[in-house]
Amino acid sequence: MPDQVLLRVTNLKKYYPVKSGLLQRVHAHVKAVDDISFDIYKGETLGLVGESGCGKTTAARVVLQLQRPTEGTVLLNGQNLTQTPDKELRSLRTQMQIIFQNPYTSLNPRMTVGAAIAEPMQVHGIAKGREASERVGELLEMVGLNRYFAGRYPSEFSGGQRQRIGIARALSVNPSFVICDEPISSLDVSIQAQIVNLLKRLQQDLGLTYLFISHDLRMVRYISNRVAVMYLGKIVELGTNKMIADNPMHPYLQALWSALPMPDPDREKTRERIVLRGDVPSPINPPQGCRFCTRCPSVMQICREVEPPLRELEPGHQVACHLYD
Ligand code: SF4
Repeated sequence: MPDQVLLRVTNLKKYYPVKSGLLQRVHAHVKAVDDISFDIYKGETLGLVGESGCGKTTAARVVLQLQRPTEGTVLLNGQNLTQTPDKELRSLRTQMQIIFQNPYTSLNPRMTVGAAIAEPMQVHGIAKGREASERVGELLEMVGLNRYFAGRYPSEFSGGQRQRIGIARALSVNPSFVICDEPISSLDVSIQAQIVNLLKRLQQDLGLTYLFISHDLRMVRYISNRVAVMYLGKIVELGTNKMIADNPMHPYLQALWSALPMPDPDREKTRERIVLRGDVPSPINPPQGCRFCTRCPSVMQICREVEPPLRELEPGHQVACHLYD
């Protein structure tokens, strides 16, 4: 396991004001990300998993400073991005890139594939003219496409090919850190593994560090070295992919695993499904105490009163739950 911290996120919060009335007074806040902390080591993949609406994508946008946080710090190679002015951030953007969820909307339909891949290089003054064209060809081949596709338009490609083009565009500026925001969720299942394996190979070849965001627990476990589980704006468990799969400790994570069919028929026969009651509460008015207390099968009185801190229960395995007090 690499141990040099590339990205350190500390006490990160993102609250959105909710306004109402004629005077548009702020009467509440949506607590989309509520005090999360984690490190990402150089060369590793940290998976961020949770149901839709749990704050994963907001966390990604705030880490990249596409939106400024309400509170907290984000250090990239020791530099505090939250205090870096917008102008300076522009040049730092070459170091951190994002691969978006939907390859159908993330590419401009009126731009050729070559122009789309070359654009970030031109914006950041990395390459232009013939040099940029040559680099576009290399990038297309790197992501498994023919370099002569550069003159075609996005509509001529399948979803999987478009996602490869999106990856080439993100890599065109030589980033060291890439956020993959649900990069496979809009693709056919048959294509998903190809894209994930491509991301893995590129990571090895280029020494990339990933934050891989997904609602797909199995896929996150497959690609990640470590996994953070989010529920209603909080990280509730964080550990190596083995800890998360073999010894899930938070009742929410246990319920997520119990909902998935087991590949082993014997284990599938004995699988006990934990059915969660109710829906995820609103992040405008989250429950007091533990955020999961309204749905947790193991809820106790203390859970409704005191918020459980994220504590290390074994080296590298953090859990936020009063069951382990
Ligand atoms: Fe369940 Fe209580 Fe643990 Fe929350 S703190 S997950 S409610 S047992």
